[in-house]
Amino acid sequence: MCQDLDILAKRFDAESKVYAEAVHFLQTAAEPHLVAASRRVERALLAFEKAREQLSQHLRLHQCRQAGD
Ligand SMILES: [Zn+2]
Repeated sequence: MCQDLDILAKRFDAESKVYAEAVHFLQTAAEPHLVAASRRVERALLAFEKAREQLSQHLRLHQCRQAGD
């Protein structure tokens, strides 16, 4: 079990939840909060993309996929 992979996978999971929450917040936000809510979505999306990229890069370079071994 690769510890780095574990950390990156957990971060990816966490960032995807933060992003989903931000999207939900934007969908339900009252008008005065729309700009702030959309900025929050943009920031969350960037963090999510970064986590996704780091995870896939690790899998590509380290070849340590969790394949139940
Ligand atoms: Zn690894």
